[in-house]
Amino acid sequence: MATKHYNVLIVGGGAAGFFTAINTKEKNQDLSVCILEKGKDVLQKVKISGGGRCNVTHACFDPKELTEFYPRGKRELLGPFHQFMTGDTMEWFEQKGVPLKIEADNRIFPESNSSQSIIDCFLNLTNTLGIEIRTSEGVKEIIKLEDEKLWKISTNTAEYTCDHLVITAGSSKPVWKLLTDLGHSVIAPVPSLFTFNIKDPLLTDLPGVAVQNVEVSIKDTKLISNGPLLITHWGTSGPAVLKLSAFGAILLAEKDYQYQVKVNWLSVSKQQALDVLFKAKKTDVKSILEKRSPFETISKRLWSRFLEICTIDGQTKWADVSNKSLELLADKLTSTMFHAQGKSTFKDEFVTAGGIKLKEINFKKFESKIHPNLFFAGEILNIDAVTGGFNFQNAWTGGWVVSEAIAYNS
Ligand SMILES: Cc1cc2nc3c(=O)[nH]c(=O)nc-3n(C[C@H](O)[C@H](O)[C@H](O)COP(=O)(O)OP(=O)(O)OC[C@H]3O[C@@H](n4cnc5c(N)ncnc54)[C@H](O)[C@@H]3O)c2cc1C
Repeated sequence: MATKHYNVLIVGGGAAGFFTAINTKEKNQDLSVCILEKGKDVLQKVKISGGGRCNVTHACFDPKELTEFYPRGKRELLGPFHQFMTGDTMEWFEQKGVPLKIEADNRIFPESNSSQSIIDCFLNLTNTLGIEIRTSEGVKEIIKLEDEKLWKISTNTAEYTCDHLVITAGSSKPVWKLLTDLGHSVIAPVPSLFTFNIKDPLLTDLPGVAVQNVEVSIKDTKLISNGPLLITHWGTSGPAVLKLSAFGAILLAEKDYQYQVKVNWLSVSKQQALDVLFKAKKTDVKSILEKRSPFETISKRLWSRFLEICTIDGQTKWADVSNKSLELLADKLTSTMFHAQGKSTFKDEFVTAGGIKLKEINFKKFESKIHPNLFFAGEILNIDAVTGGFNFQNAWTGGWVVSEAIAYNS
């Protein structure tokens, strides 16, 4: 079998792999660059990302603030974000002819609302720049040829050598195994960004009901988050829940996804909720309770369900409702306990927590501290973020930093 040599071999044709390849070649045309992809097609995750729209990045333009969205990688990404972050991502894509737009919740998408714009952009650039893409070539073996300072890579069908090896294989157990054989450590992978499965009469038949600014916490832990909550067919979802699933990924896996969830639907104290209820009792004297919710963020449907759960007749006039009933309502609204049993996948975005141990990486170059000329970017590392475009940002930032390290030091 003939062995082909490249200056730069990239293992994995996903977001991080393409961004690394394109930026390396743009900065140094003399380098031969090749992407090896296990699948028949490249960029498959980009294609399905963001519900097919690809949430490219997030409108947060302060590096320190941006790191707060990363349960794993927060400290390590601060330096790299000073080199390349969200604003640079926007500029990069716009310069390549992919206009982007910022949505109301600060997520950034292609103006086309299609991930295909990103894929077309990458494929056109690799073609123009002369980057080779070899699909159906899953890497099976990585050997370091110490004498020649080269890496030797084997797939099912071919053998390659390269000066610089970049691993961008995402959350791949076989590739993590190859890397542990090379002396690297892998933090065991667990799912992140999932929704909580809860069966409870309060939630039954209310899928689609959303509540803004809810406080969600996990009993007996320090895990707490705020934000919108969405009731689903299976339980609860929405940013507040997804954030908690990311920050609690390891702890919740240890609990085998069985835990008590406390929801404060109003994000205020019980006394503050009571004040609103007593005010309604004084002012809405002749109205019946179920006519409207006295809380702006609680819809009429959900309010009726609270009345039902607290066994309060919705036909009761505000003037006639007992203080005890209002106490009960305030209690339930500010402290509902649910038993979560299992998790479901959040269809728009999911990632894996875990990957190559960050202490083993020099983040000035995203290079292995164990082996020179071995680089990593994207989800292969123990870095992941909450939902909102931050996971791709990690791939772009890593790819950019690796490209600088390789292109200007070869
Ligand atoms: C449904 C879904 C939607 C998402 N939406 C968003 C979103 O909108 N915004 C966001 O920021 N994040 C999103 N994410 C997360 C984001 O897709 C990932 O963080 C990102 O794709 C990671 O990029 P990567 O290049 O590291 O890995 P990947 O994109 O997973 O690419 C790795 C590539 O390596 C290949 N590979 C694996 N093993 C080998 C091997 N042995 N040899 C050769 N090739 C190999 C794989 O086939 C794959 O093509 C979403 C994830 C999912 C699953």
